[in-house]
Amino acid sequence: MSNRDDRPRLRLYVEAPLAEGADVALARPQVHYLATVMRARPGESVVLFNGRDGEWLARLAVLSRHEAVARPDSQIRPQTPEPDLWLLAAPIKRARIDWVAEKATELGVSRLWPVITRRTQAERVNLDRLHAHMVEAAEQCERLSLPELAEPTALPRILADWPAERALLFLDESGNGRPLAEAVAGPAAPLAVLVGPEGGFTPDERDMLAAHPHVRPVTLGPRILRAETASIAALAVIQALAGDWRG
Ligand code: SAH
Repeated sequence: MSNRDDRPRLRLYVEAPLAEGADVALARPQVHYLATVMRARPGESVVLFNGRDGEWLARLAVLSRHEAVARPDSQIRPQTPEPDLWLLAAPIKRARIDWVAEKATELGVSRLWPVITRRTQAERVNLDRLHAHMVEAAEQCERLSLPELAEPTALPRILADWPAERALLFLDESGNGRPLAEAVAGPAAPLAVLVGPEGGFTPDERDMLAAHPHVRPVTLGPRILRAETASIAALAVIQALAGDWRG
């Protein structure tokens, strides 16, 4: 990582296993990206990762407008665990939720979980599109894995099955929660952040959250933020105070 300038300009997420000499046929959008967008050349170096086998230096053994094959040569980074941080986000308008998927990936989220609430419209969630945004973000930000993209799930269901060891930080725009920085300062526990939709949570949902033993209501200050701003701001504070920005 010290000599980033020497690294290949092309970095790709693949699903295939990565091992020396084990050719990887690249998917169609990647062929297009390499051949047409980036005008890569046969023989050019690329970096590959798959979320399991670390990061590999590879060469484009085959490259045409129709086909690309990368041949892994050597491992440059071993696989290391990503931070354990979940984002539970109620689906919002298309461009905004795409943006959240991209930024949450950059900010080191390990799981993105679309939450269906009373005021969300489930049909807004297109998992394939969100996945594509997460792949691109992971390629660009040098992550070694993708966040897991969980199935959209109704809020009561999520709360009923909530894992006891994980604190659920409920971003509560009513201002009644503790300041986020205070809420994450305690003993280290795995964390999840819950952010509501444009219309916020209903009174019933608020009661359900308030009654749940693992939910901690938190405030992000006196201004009402857009849902996507709230998500990103909360993740940044958590990474800075309790996560992997501390070095
Ligand atoms: N309730 C409002 C706005 C919802 S804002 C309405 O009815 O229009 C969308 C989501 O962002 C909220 O549900 C909450 O999770 C989060 N949020 C926004 N501002 C916040 C703040 N100041 N503190 C904590 N969470 C906030």
